[in-house]
Amino acid sequence: MFIRDLTFSITKIKGIGKVSALDFATLGVECASDLVTLFPRTYDDRTVMTSLADLPPEGGTVNTAVAILEHSHYMSRSNRVLKITCRDLNSGRNLYLHCFGRAFMENAYPVGTSWFINATVTRAKGGYNASAFTLGSSEESVGIGRILPIYPLSGSLTQKTVRKAVDTILSNTYIRFDDELPEYLMKKHGLMHTDEAIRQIHHPSDRHSLERARRSLAYSELFYMEMSMMRGRKTTQKPAESPKASPLEKKLLASLPFSLTADQNKCLDEIRRDLDWGHMNRLLQGDVGSGKTLVAWIAALHEIAKGGQVAFMAPTELLARQHAENASALLSPLGVNVAFLTGDVKGKNRGYLLTALKKGDVDLAIGTHALFSRDVSFRNLSLVIIDEQHRFGVEQRDELMKKGTKVHTLMMSATPIPRTLAMTVFGSMDISTIYTMPAGRKKIITHIVDEKNRERMYASIAVEFSRGHQAYFVYPRIDDEGDSDLKDVTSMYTFLKEKYPDIPSALIHSRLDEEEKIRILDDFRQKKLMYLVSTSVVEVGIDIPDATCMVIEHAERFGLAALHQLRGRVGRSSLQSWCFLVYYGNPTQEAVSRLKVMRESNDGFTIAETDLKIRGPGEFIGSRQSGFLRLKIASLTDDVELMAEAREDAEGLLADDPGLIKASNCMIRQLLEGSVQPS
Ligand code: ADP
Ligand code: MG
Repeated sequence: MFIRDLTFSITKIKGIGKVSALDFATLGVECASDLVTLFPRTYDDRTVMTSLADLPPEGGTVNTAVAILEHSHYMSRSNRVLKITCRDLNSGRNLYLHCFGRAFMENAYPVGTSWFINATVTRAKGGYNASAFTLGSSEESVGIGRILPIYPLSGSLTQKTVRKAVDTILSNTYIRFDDELPEYLMKKHGLMHTDEAIRQIHHPSDRHSLERARRSLAYSELFYMEMSMMRGRKTTQKPAESPKASPLEKKLLASLPFSLTADQNKCLDEIRRDLDWGHMNRLLQGDVGSGKTLVAWIAALHEIAKGGQVAFMAPTELLARQHAENASALLSPLGVNVAFLTGDVKGKNRGYLLTALKKGDVDLAIGTHALFSRDVSFRNLSLVIIDEQHRFGVEQRDELMKKGTKVHTLMMSATPIPRTLAMTVFGSMDISTIYTMPAGRKKIITHIVDEKNRERMYASIAVEFSRGHQAYFVYPRIDDEGDSDLKDVTSMYTFLKEKYPDIPSALIHSRLDEEEKIRILDDFRQKKLMYLVSTSVVEVGIDIPDATCMVIEHAERFGLAALHQLRGRVGRSSLQSWCFLVYYGNPTQEAVSRLKVMRESNDGFTIAETDLKIRGPGEFIGSRQSGFLRLKIASLTDDVELMAEAREDAEGLLADDPGLIKASNCMIRQLLEGSVQPS
């Protein structure tokens, strides 16, 4: 049988009643197959004897033998507590056992007797103490010599209940699990048979077998994840040569003062292939300023040249406007009709616009999600481009797809995602990545500044002002509701006004209305303002080439992704830029390591890899997409190579037998069809 064939309810297992069944249910365990795949979250390795002498200063667990020396009592919160003094026979040191509510122990463990013990020991000035311990007459009885599984628990479940329930299933002689992978893959990766792996994972015989079991099950999990994502993807055979750029595209490229980077060209090639010979569902990722938007315009021209319409959606009105302005400057001279549509475009103007879109007079429509309101229709929408895709919900994206029958989609993300994670989260999409920045960009110099020593920072920014360069001062949004952040940023603004009395500036925050914000940013762009003080971390796409200084107050409170995004607002030209990370008080270890990563690296992908390690994948992706990450045993951080192998195997297998109709692949099809595909 396959694991999933164990469909009987866990309530059939002896010892599991109504209450524990409910507790198990909160762990996602309802039937026996759930229980055998409830993998231990960690293990208590009692294979080696450890004496008190081996204990690190912060304490830990010991597996040793003790002799009982003395019984005494003391009062704690009006309870009489038994204290057993014993001697660790392996180190000769004394250990105090505190038996809260366990007075019977006085008789069970008389003075002069010896026992094996597993104990969680803390160290205080008075010596070694333990209140959680197991004493037994044999090594087995306290688990010495075994690697014990530690399961996730819920409600009133104990390790003992879970272990017993798992053991009941595994000791049933009728239950044997069939392998879930073709033999050649098992051989290729040196995997354990499924049955053995499941038994080893719950009852490891030693460290080595445990690791092999884990790896085997993890590979299988990743393989099926990759298979189910890839199977939904249509792979059409495409010609080997590169598709041609249209005259429109060539005209644009000729008008640019620079040429595209190798990465930009590679991405464009991938995009044009989709557009000409396939169906595009592609993510274009690259750091802020890596030149994604330009690639997107060229992709748009590719479709427009064929008579299609293109919709470009940005997450905020402000960003949409900025894109529309750039597009007009760049594309209108080529004869492209660009329109701008947001929720604020109303009345007669809106009427004209909608008619023009419907008639096909508009080639490129740029806007917010208002582009996809019910009353908007296109004549021949062929490509949808979504900027900062992660800021849109799945529903909004779906809504958009419905507007055209066979619309190509290009999503852009400036949040670099580590490779493996991208493969997972965007598994049903193709990915194009711009790794390298356009030539001539200078590395942003990042300083970590103690809040108390900020004067030097202000002096260097003053020098930048004198050169005609601009600055941002950002204060974190501490909470969404209260006014405290506004107060902080306002007093910061007042403080800076005194610091730089002759420098024009503005305060910008989320409570200003959109028009006011746009006016301020226009003034900033035209250098009527030299610095902005802001609470908001929202407008990450703002592109002001002469801004060279970014000051982030309370940098210790920001996550790496946010810090990197904020810093990306400077360093957008060939000018040298600076970023100052101002911290307050004594930041935590983790905060300090974040700031250091920022100082050391300018590369979004490196930063993202580190971020993933610090925070783990669930946090990293955010709840909206974490549904993809319900992995039971594989780890997106630790099994990077295994995942790449699984993906490669899945790709190879599907290329060879797309319908999984070969006899040897029949089992895979069967297992896949029972599995839930990520939506
Ligand atoms: P992104 O959308 O990835 O943040 P943009 O496409 O907005 O980046 O590009 C940022 C800036 O770099 C723009 O001013 C753009 O004109 C410029 N740029 C884009 N590609 C190149 C290139 N190959 N060489 C030089 N500058 C470039
Ligand atoms: Mg951008």
